[in-house]
Amino acid sequence: MVEAATMDRAAVTARPGHNRPPVIEAINLKKHFPVKKGILRRTVGQVYAVDDITFSVGEGETLGLVGESGCGKSTVARTVLRLIEPTAGTIRLDGHDVTRLGKAELRPYRRQMQMIFQDPFSSLNPRMSAGDIVGEPLQVHGLASGKEKHEQVCEIFDQVGLRRSQMNAFPHEFSGGQRQRISIARALALNPKLIVADEPVSALDVSIQAQVINLMMDLQREKGLSYLFIAHDLAVVEHISHRIAVMYLGKIVEYADKRTLFTNPQHPYTEALLSAVPVPNPKLKRAKRLLQGDVPSPINPPSGCAFHTRCPYAEARCKVDTPKLVEISPGHGVSCLLRTN
Ligand code: SF4
Repeated sequence: MVEAATMDRAAVTARPGHNRPPVIEAINLKKHFPVKKGILRRTVGQVYAVDDITFSVGEGETLGLVGESGCGKSTVARTVLRLIEPTAGTIRLDGHDVTRLGKAELRPYRRQMQMIFQDPFSSLNPRMSAGDIVGEPLQVHGLASGKEKHEQVCEIFDQVGLRRSQMNAFPHEFSGGQRQRISIARALALNPKLIVADEPVSALDVSIQAQVINLMMDLQREKGLSYLFIAHDLAVVEHISHRIAVMYLGKIVEYADKRTLFTNPQHPYTEALLSAVPVPNPKLKRAKRLLQGDVPSPINPPSGCAFHTRCPYAEARCKVDTPKLVEISPGHGVSCLLRTN
């Protein structure tokens, strides 16, 4: 068995048909936020939002990142995109180390990685028309203006299934699903390699969720896009992901290709998340494993295995020994003392 920090990186290039280097790599990534108190704002602790995680996403691949609210998924998204500074670790985009680049040096790389947010309404400027929202990145990056910009925006509207006649409408005139299409269109404007989608369908009705996910999959096929797709629900990432990583309290506790994760989960937390996923056959039922309590505070995470306070299989040693993320079979890693010792 090999420790995952090494094998995660090898796992991407090992994906069938993908011999190119990963589009994005996060290596031993950490993001800790200081907790300050008192008039002097002294640092009295740290929030371990992201605590030493390693993953990569290949060309044309979707990595699903799943976990409950507060597990650090959104912090991963923002750190990888350099919207917030990492505390430690390395971020590589297309093989280039972008971890410590300054604002100007980072600019050409920013175009290659875009983000889609959970709530399209609050992420779209209500005073701008849909056409201006989608065309703005082209203008800001000096890529197109005037007629040329208009033509490019028209093409992007076609690609995401919006009518050209809607270009002058404002965000409040669209439905939730259409607003998310505008967000996707804006992300596509700069022709990125990577899109980080942070809970992009959580605020939408179930029928609309499927439409948006299908659109993202079509665009991936057409343009070879890579997605880091973040969700709190395994059911949402099932359709779109090639591989899935499960996060708990700032760490990846299991990762595998989608099929392996759904048919042979090894971590008790993954089992619990899976038990909540509906089975399409009414004759089949998954055993429900309801988790007790909430995710503990990342300021003062539990000793040993951080999941021991909620784990139905916890033993005395789980309170003391910290499990390592270990690759138990090619491309399948798990962090649980019962599975790896
Ligand atoms: Fe549960 Fe122990 Fe495994 Fe942690 S190490 S997931 S507490 S069995």
